[in-house]
Amino acid sequence: MAKGTIGVTTTNIFPVIKKFLYSDHEIFLRELVSNAVDATQKLKTLASAGDFEGKIDDLKVEVKLDKDAGTLTVTDHGIGMTEEEIDKYINQIAFSGAEDFLNKYKDTANVIIGHFGLGFYSAFMVAKKVEIHTLSYQEGAKAVCWSCDGSPEFEMSECDKAERGTDIILHIDDDEKEFLEQSRISALLNKYCRFLPVPVIFGKEQEWKDGKYVDTDKDKLINDVEPLWTRKPTDLTDDDYLKFYRAIQPGQEDPLFWIHLNVDFPFTLTGILYFPKIKNNLDIRKDRIQLYCNQVYVTDSVEGVVPEFLMLLQGVIDSPDIPLNVSRSYLQADRNVKKISTYITKKVASRLEEIAKDNAQEFEQKWNDIKIFIEYGMLSDEKFCEQAMKFALLENTDGKFFNLEDYKKLIEGEQTDKDGNLIYLYATDKDAQYTYIKAATDKGYDVLMMNGQLDVPFLGMLEQKNEKSRFVRVDSDVLDRLIVKEDAKKDELNDLEREVATTLFQSQVPTMEKANFMVNLATMGANDSPVIITQSEYMRRMKEMAQFQPGMGFYGEMPDYYNLTLNTAHPLVKKLIDDAVAATEASLKPLDDDLTATNNVIRAIRDLDKDGKGVPEDKKQDLSDNEKHAGELREKKTAVISDYAAGQEKVKQLIDIALLGNGLLRGEALDRFLKRSVELL
Ligand code: ADP
Repeated sequence: MAKGTIGVTTTNIFPVIKKFLYSDHEIFLRELVSNAVDATQKLKTLASAGDFEGKIDDLKVEVKLDKDAGTLTVTDHGIGMTEEEIDKYINQIAFSGAEDFLNKYKDTANVIIGHFGLGFYSAFMVAKKVEIHTLSYQEGAKAVCWSCDGSPEFEMSECDKAERGTDIILHIDDDEKEFLEQSRISALLNKYCRFLPVPVIFGKEQEWKDGKYVDTDKDKLINDVEPLWTRKPTDLTDDDYLKFYRAIQPGQEDPLFWIHLNVDFPFTLTGILYFPKIKNNLDIRKDRIQLYCNQVYVTDSVEGVVPEFLMLLQGVIDSPDIPLNVSRSYLQADRNVKKISTYITKKVASRLEEIAKDNAQEFEQKWNDIKIFIEYGMLSDEKFCEQAMKFALLENTDGKFFNLEDYKKLIEGEQTDKDGNLIYLYATDKDAQYTYIKAATDKGYDVLMMNGQLDVPFLGMLEQKNEKSRFVRVDSDVLDRLIVKEDAKKDELNDLEREVATTLFQSQVPTMEKANFMVNLATMGANDSPVIITQSEYMRRMKEMAQFQPGMGFYGEMPDYYNLTLNTAHPLVKKLIDDAVAATEASLKPLDDDLTATNNVIRAIRDLDKDGKGVPEDKKQDLSDNEKHAGELREKKTAVISDYAAGQEKVKQLIDIALLGNGLLRGEALDRFLKRSVELL
């Protein structure tokens, strides 16, 4: 029997391993099973090269628990090790200053394991004693037994072992008894070893018999040795992809699309990404892509490997170029990993482009479900945006879909304003904005539906990318002002008529909490609505954006500003204005004359201020008296018109109808409107 010291320079590495690798104790199992799989695959490689001629038909790896003995054993039938190999690979831990190193990287313990050949030694995180029983595949090799109780000393001797391969026997620590539990090990194997390329056996299949589950004599295979992503896409059916999805994402609705990744150069990467069906925000989770390295599970935090916006996808990515033992900061710094991320973005974009082209109908049907991914991607990733411009869709209020290019062509003729700006009209609610949509479509315009969660920022981005294009909601102004074709028609009103008209309506707008109305005049068609309520695109968008951006909350607190536009070409409005002028003219005339005279005096005094230093001292009182008088006159004029307006039921009725059309008439105001309607009838 040989005794020796494990070749590390620190006196005792095991307490260090135990202490600092604390959080990830469970990965010992992944390390040991991966080693067993590696040893098995090496043997297969040797066999196929003709360097090994023995039997290779029983190459499974087996994990066994013996609760009474307190052991967990990992058995393989791979290449095994000779005494020299144990010495070289196990006894010499090839680095110095282990303790310093571990101290420095205690937060990223995972990096150290594997990176420094500590994979096997992770067994000491959970075991008080580890044994290796191994027989090399080499001809004439003698079986070797090695054991170590966690001190730097080990024992090694020849022993009896008839079968080729290796048993790693862990005498589980008293503090780590959980690793003797069938259910715990079963869960771990399912997490880490589910897709390993060599069959892994753990226990027996069970069956229901005499009121309880009992073992059958059939081995329980815990892994799928040929997971879908390792197979050729041309050999697979949609059903295969759906089945695989259901296996990795149980309990989820079927996905919308999938993308099979497969690349050999400049790095190797395979995988399948699924676009899930997102029903609501609660569904959005970012830990649904699993990262594998040669079918060994690494992690489900893929930040850095997968671009941010694609983390909403689900599925698997497998690349031997992603280091098996990774910490997040390590991943993000790795240049290979960055390339992988760029590649995935490109691949996802071109696959989507392909689907959009080859299965246009299907793509349209699913557009509303996937647009959140695509808009998010376009908003957050410049490269993706460039590609997505080719397949992103716009939907109009008739439910027709267009790509950006085609839509532009569709509206170019009708919706270009006099300054050459292309005006995209959109609606967010087909029912609430029905009147506006109808008015626009009647005029030959097209109206888009923009009711997705990210539509507002998305159209903001499109405006930025396309000079001379603007998106305006169909109810944000009267049509002729949304798309200004020629300089606005001058209304035929004189100053007095205009003033009377404005005050007539402004004075009768009901007061409402958090809503302000400004009356203005426009000459539309005689058949257009007499009164229209609109809300400025700018203010509304600011308020909407405030929901997404912290720090913009004050916009959300502001009242809504609406325009109440009178159509002065409408006969009803015309008549109301004419009547109002006739009724108030006589009272307004003297006030107006006085106001004109007063304004002349004010102007004359102001003109004395030649050098901009202010009016002469002795004129100041005079000026302020006159200004006050002018203010009083204006108030009196308003009062004259308002008094008249108060008796004009039709003015109130017209305002209320417009409010009603916008869902703004509520409560007491609504009640008054209903009563008045009956009276007017
Ligand atoms: P790594 O796997 O990262 O090289 P390990 O400490 O896990 O580091 O293993 C060190 C070496 O020991 C392996 O490279 C391999 O040569 C050998 N080894 C470990 N486990 C086995 C096994 N079950 N069968 C054969 N060789 C093994």
